[in-house]
Amino acid sequence: MPNQEKLSPAQTHKLYVKKFGGTSVGSIERIEVLAEQIAAAHRAGIRQVIVLSAMAGETNRLIALGGQIDPHGNAREMDMLISTGEQISIALMAMALQKRGVKAVSLTGDQVQIHTNSQFGRASIERVDTDYLESLLASDIIPVVAGFQGRNPHGDVTTLGRGGSDTTAVALAVALSADECQIYTDVCGVFTTDPNLEPAARRLSCISFTTMYEMARLGAKVLHPDSVAYAERFKVPLRVLSSFESGEGTLICVDEACHISGNVVGIAVSRDLAMVSFEDADKSTEPLGKLFQQLSVLGVETDLLSKTQTDSSSVSFTVSEAWLEQVLLELDGLSQTVNLGSVFYERDLVRISLVASGSLAKTDVAAKVFDVLGKLGIHVKLISTSEIKLALVIPQKYLQMAVCALHHAFGLNEL
Ligand code: ASP
Ligand code: MG
Repeated sequence: MPNQEKLSPAQTHKLYVKKFGGTSVGSIERIEVLAEQIAAAHRAGIRQVIVLSAMAGETNRLIALGGQIDPHGNAREMDMLISTGEQISIALMAMALQKRGVKAVSLTGDQVQIHTNSQFGRASIERVDTDYLESLLASDIIPVVAGFQGRNPHGDVTTLGRGGSDTTAVALAVALSADECQIYTDVCGVFTTDPNLEPAARRLSCISFTTMYEMARLGAKVLHPDSVAYAERFKVPLRVLSSFESGEGTLICVDEACHISGNVVGIAVSRDLAMVSFEDADKSTEPLGKLFQQLSVLGVETDLLSKTQTDSSSVSFTVSEAWLEQVLLELDGLSQTVNLGSVFYERDLVRISLVASGSLAKTDVAAKVFDVLGKLGIHVKLISTSEIKLALVIPQKYLQMAVCALHHAFGLNEL
């Protein structure tokens, strides 16, 4: 935690919403260490609202428990079940703070009054009441809030989607007009790419909301994309820090000036993808509409969708491997009425996305990508560009080789 013992007068009375992820509260020892840090900050005059995730592995354990009863269990009951993980963490943390003589109280989403819509498993926050939180802060009591959960208009427990505690923290920071929303995790900030793949990855001292949003959406796990979008909308400064070591972390901010516009600043990776392609011999667009509508109803997210039509017409897209069988089933159904030609699919693919800090010089970047990967003999299966990113799909076995080569070629080692 950055220099909490040596605070300048201007830093006292600041209000920080601090969110700690699963590994940060992963054991009793970790909770005790954090409680010590939070208590020290409190004594130094910082006002804090703490948001916690479930202890590491707990949400997965709860999902698996539910799955033993019914793999397609009722969504309301699943939310009731998986929201309990966070309640364990907040109760333990409140006790650890109280033991240190610091006044603290644990609160569920319902107790805070975090209002969401009714989309169980993927609810959106619509409104946060701050009265209770403000009265606690005014009495010098630290609110310790369960992340990832809220209540719908009927009072049912809802959850915000995996990784949703980040969004809870941002929503509270916005509602309370906090000075900063700090997301504490097990890495010391946002990196140019996953340091497990490329040890030369660099921590970025700042990154714009737009770039961070793309990085998060395209696979960077450090922040939930919804939380970035929310923070950008309400312009609340967001910082990613390590709860294990001190440092300034990465500030996510509006200012693009920290990087030269158009430069690639990060490489995001998404694993376990499959690619599906078919011929569409009838060249008929309408049945394709039905296919994608059906996939959308099932909640299947497709990406890098492309359709080319020359002499023949071919369609390809990627899906998460977990959805492949379902997609093939739908295509089988469609082939009863439409001549799809042969359907091809390939597993064990990854998507590598180069994300820039402003409009990307697409042709130049594509030229470099093809040059770098060509020299390594890596064939690109699909490629697509948008305003600030270029994404490509390659076999999983080349992932590390490709990421390291691209990281070097785009000068990310020197950022
Ligand atoms: N515990 C939830 C999850 O694992 C929410 C979070 O950690 O942000 O997805
Ligand atoms: Mg997370």
